[in-house]
Amino acid sequence: MKAVLALDQGTTSSRAILYNHSGDILGVAQKEFSQIYPKSGWVEHNPIEIWDTQLAVARQVLSDCRVDAKEVAAIGITNQRETTVVWDRTTGEPVYNAIVWQDRRTADYCDLLKSSSEAAAITARTGLVVDPYFSGTKLRWILDHVPQARARAQKGELAFGTIDTWLLWKLTQGRVHKTDSSNASRTMLMNLESLSWDLDLLKQFEIPDSLLPQIVRSSEIYGQSDPALFGSEIPIAGIAGDQQAALFGQNCTQIGMAKNTYGTGCFMLMNVGPKPIPSTQRLLSSVGWTRPNQQCYVLEGSVFIAGAAIQWLRDGLGIIKSASEVEALAKQVPDSDGVYLVPAFAGLGAPHWDAYARGTIVGITRGTTAAHLARAALEGIAFQVADVLTAMEKDSSSKLTELRVDGGASANNLLMQFQADVMQCPVVRPKIIETTSLGAAYLAGLATGFWKNDSEIQSIWQADRRFEPMMSPREAQARRERWADALDRSRQWVEKG
Ligand code: ADP
Repeated sequence: MKAVLALDQGTTSSRAILYNHSGDILGVAQKEFSQIYPKSGWVEHNPIEIWDTQLAVARQVLSDCRVDAKEVAAIGITNQRETTVVWDRTTGEPVYNAIVWQDRRTADYCDLLKSSSEAAAITARTGLVVDPYFSGTKLRWILDHVPQARARAQKGELAFGTIDTWLLWKLTQGRVHKTDSSNASRTMLMNLESLSWDLDLLKQFEIPDSLLPQIVRSSEIYGQSDPALFGSEIPIAGIAGDQQAALFGQNCTQIGMAKNTYGTGCFMLMNVGPKPIPSTQRLLSSVGWTRPNQQCYVLEGSVFIAGAAIQWLRDGLGIIKSASEVEALAKQVPDSDGVYLVPAFAGLGAPHWDAYARGTIVGITRGTTAAHLARAALEGIAFQVADVLTAMEKDSSSKLTELRVDGGASANNLLMQFQADVMQCPVVRPKIIETTSLGAAYLAGLATGFWKNDSEIQSIWQADRRFEPMMSPREAQARRERWADALDRSRQWVEKG
């Protein structure tokens, strides 16, 4: 066996990546697909286009690398989470477009739920805060709005799935209807403790259980791909949502290990071990992965604007020409000279949760230059990340020992050093920052024996660079207190309603 094939079905593109036994990338193929915006706040994808692009890139990477399907040990799937598809079990035809995680159409219903006595119980059972983001209310919307959908669902004619389930169904030509526990934990329909569909929640959302896939582990053989697709069967053996796959790809398999992805926004996940931890810090509690010998729960928090703040320096202010120039500009000054930039351009996420906050720059003097602003923008990203990580430490009653990083902006050494400084913990950037697809490949390869055990995988993971804290704890504390003051000035800025 030469390789494992990872399918990375993202929000804007479908990708296929082929990994060999040493964890090296043999090839990558990628195709974008259409974003559909039928109304303000609505976002849809065509499930057929998702499947067509995913199949096309899988075939392409195999042919580009001249790898035969017989030489592929396993397929692993990682996917945009929460996005909701309903299809006809007989024809395989979707009854409606996929409703994407970003879609806000169920906001009114969620507001109603949030103001009811049910909200706390939903959070206690699912680990999630009531929000349109998650699949449950999206699925309910389809059943309410597509003619005959609920009646047909009750007769067992329809199937629901997140994107992993949809791809698995298509890969097996409708023979397998399963989802893994990490994806199921993002539906707001799964009981986080028992890892099964929650019958009370199904009743509350009026969802017939005949629609639902079986919840299975993130690493096991679910079925074989149809031989007509790639020339011969390939076992499909790993599934995890994108953020959870990245945590696994970063080898954060021990309790207390965490990763952050620095992209447009930031996504942080911390491994909290075999039992879920309910958050008192307004973080989300989810499944990381379930494997034959390991059950991992996570705490999750995200920051809306991170790399996007650097895009704003480029496009809004024009003080840099490309994102990679920001480091050289920021390095022209030793510090931000008291300037703080709070990138609350779209409100504040975890743990502050203030939709009415807006971007704020404080501490400007006659001496402030573009370099100070660049530095303050980078520091603002690191402070936001530190706020989420500190909330995780409080919830888990543990101190972060190391932060593993990936994503486009993790290339910025100044940002990584400052992150280590304000968090007072080492920041480690791996050689391979393709962690999402690598995580899916690992899960699949482990289930089929392509990789024998965890230690084999741990030997693949290699650090590119480790950033140790250089700032004194006192200084870090003072800077974070000053940041908290700046953050206060950004809060509740736009008028409600
Ligand atoms: P996404 O997957 O969210 O599109 P990526 O992981 O591709 O994001 O990262 C792109 C983001 O990282 C952009 O917002 C960009 O501004 C930022 N970025 C890229 N390079 C750098 C850099 N050297 N320093 C800071 N930010 C950067």
